[in-house]
Amino acid sequence: MMLEKNYLASAEDFLSEAIENIIQAQANQSRWKFAAVNLVAALELSLKAKLISVHPVLVRETLDSKRRSISLVQALARLKDPEIYGLRIPQQAEHSIASAVDLRNGVSHGVLFENEKSIASKCFEVFAFVRFFLQSEFNVDLSSFVNKNSLKKILEIARRREEFLNHAKNQLIENENVYCCPDCVEDFLVIRKGRFICLHCMYSEDPQSCADCGTELPSTKIYPLSEYFEYAFEDGHTRLLKDFGMPDIEVCLECLRKRRDEIETQRFQDMVEDFYFQIATS
Ligand SMILES: [Zn+2]
Ligand SMILES: [Zn+2]
Repeated sequence: MMLEKNYLASAEDFLSEAIENIIQAQANQSRWKFAAVNLVAALELSLKAKLISVHPVLVRETLDSKRRSISLVQALARLKDPEIYGLRIPQQAEHSIASAVDLRNGVSHGVLFENEKSIASKCFEVFAFVRFFLQSEFNVDLSSFVNKNSLKKILEIARRREEFLNHAKNQLIENENVYCCPDCVEDFLVIRKGRFICLHCMYSEDPQSCADCGTELPSTKIYPLSEYFEYAFEDGHTRLLKDFGMPDIEVCLECLRKRRDEIETQRFQDMVEDFYFQIATS
């Protein structure tokens, strides 16, 4: 109980700090990276506080290691485990948590950011999740540990961000294909003037086309067929064993499924042939 309270209190400290960073970031963009670091710390401590409430040993890496604590990703995986706690978390939130962790790791390795809106987006997503998690799992409200003035400011900033999103929403054309932006993780990646552009954070990239059907897609939606080939791993090298008569191309998900079925059929036929060959030669 004591330990859980300590973790929770630290989570609140980091969250307060993150809120101050976000407020400062409105005038000085270099504060965003501190907000990201503090938010991820707040998230990690909140998740661990919950694990501790189930059983304190759950934050340890192994039963015997008193010192080594698990990572944020491990903590989340344990909480989601139905045999431990069965936490349910929306996919979008999980996405944002993963990219916030990347962001934190990038920050601690001294990577510079180029896209302020993309960091802001991730920060707000994690902020929203931590806030929801504290409320729903511990019945803790922001107003119990954030000063009134800061709370007012942060809600105002969040509201303006909402306006950014609405602005992006208004630029969408009816029935057009929209993809998830790999940078800000919002669903605003669309084709404009032959390029994919995120209407929210302005991330952009050249379209890739499916080698089979020609559909133009963002890089996250195109898959190499070679993943289904068979390889041998020797002396640190990869050697292609079988390509099942397929070209080494990149395709869309739909075409990938068709090709995969053909590969599976071929694989099965090869197996049958090998089997008869073995019988014939034994
Ligand atoms: Zn974006
Ligand atoms: Zn295709």
